[in-house]
Amino acid sequence: MNSGGKVLSVVIPIYNEVNIEPNITRVMEVLSNAKIKYEIILVDDGSRNNAWGEISDIVDKYEGIIGIAFSRNFGKESALCAGLDAATGDCAICLDSDMQFPPEVIPDMYKLWEEGYEVVEGVKKKRQKESLMYKLCAGTFYSFLKKSSNIDLRNSSDFRLLDRAAIDAWKEMPEKQTFFRGMSSWVGFKRYQYEFEVADRIEGESKWSFKRLIGLAVDAVTSYTAAPLYAASIFGIIFFVFAVVMGIQTLYMYVLGKAQSGFTTVILLLLFIGAVILLGLGVIGIYIKKIYEEVKGRPRYIISRVIGKKDINK
Ligand code: UDP
Ligand code: MG
Repeated sequence: MNSGGKVLSVVIPIYNEVNIEPNITRVMEVLSNAKIKYEIILVDDGSRNNAWGEISDIVDKYEGIIGIAFSRNFGKESALCAGLDAATGDCAICLDSDMQFPPEVIPDMYKLWEEGYEVVEGVKKKRQKESLMYKLCAGTFYSFLKKSSNIDLRNSSDFRLLDRAAIDAWKEMPEKQTFFRGMSSWVGFKRYQYEFEVADRIEGESKWSFKRLIGLAVDAVTSYTAAPLYAASIFGIIFFVFAVVMGIQTLYMYVLGKAQSGFTTVILLLLFIGAVILLGLGVIGIYIKKIYEEVKGRPRYIISRVIGKKDINK
């Protein structure tokens, strides 16, 4: 063993996937060829198909595999949390079950970890097949996030290898609504940006609808920055100045006896100011909802079954 007894935990979230076994055996083959000791944690995120059946078979058939089933679909973020909570390795890597993150590069990333990098981030060399609209939205989102919170997640992915110290730091973070990519960047540590090519999805389809992506983006922004709250106030100030100028102008016209009989200005101002107030309220509402969710303190996920290893605790 060149890994000197060190163990790599591989965390794989699974939701309504099919044909899981060949993907898992592909990962196992890569790791054994590279002589890396591993445990694989398959987290079934409340799949409604036969994914859990497949996972159970895999756990029975091979060594070193743990299966965790959620009581319902909690989302990929929660699945990653459960996987990292259960991981006992000296380092851990998160991998998509559709193998869009090529497992063949794991040994390279592992080597970087052995060289002392504590967070090896997979950075997408070319983005996967995406529509122009998606690219545009993603681009705007990442530049906004970078400007407002100094966290650069452009082309980043959940494909990252974390040292035990980074995993423990991330587990210390108490928030219930997590954003793995952002949080694992926030913890710091010695990092390396490892470029890789994203493969196309072979089987099944992406679980991310436009609505879910917007949800993730809103979550990400509101988790890292209060900039939208400031933006609401700045808009407020701008429109206040606007209103003062318009007010003075109207008074001036009135004094000169040239007051307009039309209501255009009034209506426009009303609309503008109404919009700004609603915008501000909306932003505050999103943050309040977040505070509310955190205050409730509900768990990030609920496990219904664990197979493969008995001594896992949350
Ligand atoms: N996934 C999950 N829970 C969900 C949605 C997705 O665990 O609610 C898993 C999914 O099974 C896959 C990974 O997250 O292993 C990435 O999902 P997907 O391939 O659909 O996302 P994309 O590659 O399109 O970003
Ligand atoms: Mg995918």
